[in-house]
Amino acid sequence: MFSLFPEGVSPMLSNLVYRSRARVDLTHDDLVHIERSARERNEDLGVTGVLLFDGSYFCQFLEGPEAVVRDVYALVRNSRLHHRVVTLLEDYAPRRRFADWGMRLLNIRASPQEQIVSALHGALKPGVDLPCDDRAFRLIRAFAAGRWRDHAMDGDDPARWTFRADPASVIHAPLPLASDTCQFALQPIVDTTAGRISSLEALMRGPTGGSPQSCFEALSPEQYHLFDLEAKCHAFELVERMGGIGKSKLSINLLPMSLVRVPDAVDYLLDQIARHGLTPERVILEITEEEAISHFDLFQTALKQLRAHGVSLAIDDFGAGFAGLSLLSRFQPDKLKIDRQIVQGIHADGPRQAIVRAIISCCSALGITIVAEGVETPEEWSWLQAAGIDLFQGFLFARPMLNGIPAVNWPVPVAETR
Ligand code: C2E
Ligand code: MN
Ligand code: MN
Repeated sequence: MFSLFPEGVSPMLSNLVYRSRARVDLTHDDLVHIERSARERNEDLGVTGVLLFDGSYFCQFLEGPEAVVRDVYALVRNSRLHHRVVTLLEDYAPRRRFADWGMRLLNIRASPQEQIVSALHGALKPGVDLPCDDRAFRLIRAFAAGRWRDHAMDGDDPARWTFRADPASVIHAPLPLASDTCQFALQPIVDTTAGRISSLEALMRGPTGGSPQSCFEALSPEQYHLFDLEAKCHAFELVERMGGIGKSKLSINLLPMSLVRVPDAVDYLLDQIARHGLTPERVILEITEEEAISHFDLFQTALKQLRAHGVSLAIDDFGAGFAGLSLLSRFQPDKLKIDRQIVQGIHADGPRQAIVRAIISCCSALGITIVAEGVETPEEWSWLQAAGIDLFQGFLFARPMLNGIPAVNWPVPVAETR
């Protein structure tokens, strides 16, 4: 028989655990049918595992060759039976744990706990023992005990929402613009519950609209921080030209070392803020942590001065690069922006959901407001807002606009649009 794998090389055995919600109420006959068809399909494919059902949710453990497990999981995600499918674990193992080709379906609601656990053990291959520190087994047992509901959550249904913008709300800054070294684009950070723009983030652009990186590329490391600091006056000037930004605040980005390396950086910023008709209370400073902070004491002194004048502080890109728990333990900002890498695909990703829920709980203990960055899809937004986040930034709502304020795509309940 044709084999994908050279002789003697066996494919890696992969494991996958997911949770999903049954799209419709299922009868006993439905469950029998589901079990039988899963068994037939998986027997052909060489996939073993166990399938649990608690009356509304499924939790399945799948094991088999990597490509096959991936295909079976794609079938699950596309099936009419499952929705809100969330990946809980993707892993590899040296040997199979379950004996059953196909799926033994355990109906949790219909049987007491002890019976479920003994049935789980009964489904194992002879001689296989599941240690209590086995992640897959812990997940399955937590599901069987209903414990997953303590720390996990189902998102809101994205189909309930549509997104609409009012093109008339676009604002262009009048020409000519001042600088030949850099200019700024503005991207709204929106409060979708209140339906207002909480702040506008000023993102650096080159003279012809190039990326922030392109502005810094030509500079030597010595010029880097001074340029970063001085560029901010063009962001303040943009706001001034537009005749202000209503009740929204202005968020600016600064490398931490721009506050440390440039003498009197704080005075310079405060002076520029005042010169362009803004007040420090209207400004949020986002600390972008691309570089490690040396001289933390000097950095902290600068932050204290800024706070004392009323400037708000945000940790940017939280969860990426250097901006992590260590920084948060040393200084607590007014806002914490969760990095796009963590937000991406969150509605279907168990590990990311667990991380974001922990961040939310940590921030609520500390009184810190969370912003979710890089929100691109209604599914991501609806999960995040159901989890308790109010502030969002991302292409779903608006892309950054050069020298202006773009129109925002606001979520509108579908019922209201009929
Ligand atoms: P950032 O501060 O995290 O800014 C958000 C970046 O994510 C922006 O990229 C924005 O265009 C992009 N973005 C926003 N929503 C989405 C989305 O839904 N999907 C995707 N894929 N991207 C999204 P941009 O303008 O290229 O800026 C990149 C980074 O450059 C900024 O990341 C910030 O770290 C840095 N930067 C921008 N302006 C300045 C500045 O004046 N000074 C310094 N030091 N850094 C700056
Ligand atoms: Mn930023
Ligand atoms: Mn960011």
